[in-house]
Amino acid sequence: MEDFLWIKNDEKRSMMQSLYKQAKEDRVPILLDEAAKVIDSWLLLLKPDRILEVGAAVGYSAIRMALVSPNSKIDTIEKDPERAREARSNIQQFELVGQIVLHEGDALELIPEMTEEYDLVFIDAAKGQYGRFFEDSIKRIRPGGVVICDNMLFHGFVEAEEVPKRYRTMIKKLKAFHETLRNHPDLETRILSIDDGISISVKRG
Ligand code: SAH
Ligand code: MG
Repeated sequence: MEDFLWIKNDEKRSMMQSLYKQAKEDRVPILLDEAAKVIDSWLLLLKPDRILEVGAAVGYSAIRMALVSPNSKIDTIEKDPERAREARSNIQQFELVGQIVLHEGDALELIPEMTEEYDLVFIDAAKGQYGRFFEDSIKRIRPGGVVICDNMLFHGFVEAEEVPKRYRTMIKKLKAFHETLRNHPDLETRILSIDDGISISVKRG
């Protein structure tokens, strides 16, 4: 269990503990603890000016990134209206409106319209669409920038011999995305088998 002891401000720490607990109770698939700590570490090292997140849900990971890296400006995208509403309200409660911009809509439509250059892109939305989120967002990442993707092993099914029927198409697409990362001429990628699997790709400088 995450204790958030790294948050020095008592009020913010207790707000974060509640947000985390509530998200778990509501079965929102928030970033798991070990993967979150790896991302924290990258933020501490990279000190990114700009972050793009695909898949905000209720804002947990965006708020976490904002607290870890107070000088980063974060754009985050969420297409589910109810979740986007909750994320917006959480961002307000944490007084992070100046640091996090929530874009409500489908990332497949919104990313191609974006013009900013990002230091880090965090992809954590529909797993069958990772290839498309990636193709759109890689153009927006500066040389030397980083792409992190969550759920790359999807409950172990990416490496399993037998995949339940309902997941087959999605897993097939996720596997193809592994190949895309592996073979990409501009990226150096590692996949960590922690939590649900996260990939870290660095774009050549
Ligand atoms: N990053 C969040 C968890 C995201 S869960 C956290 O760790 O706190 C994945 C979210 O992606 C869901 O809320 C889902 O609605 C959203 N999503 C899925 N496909 C999307 C798309 N095409 N565009 C925008 N959001 C999408
Ligand atoms: Mg995830």
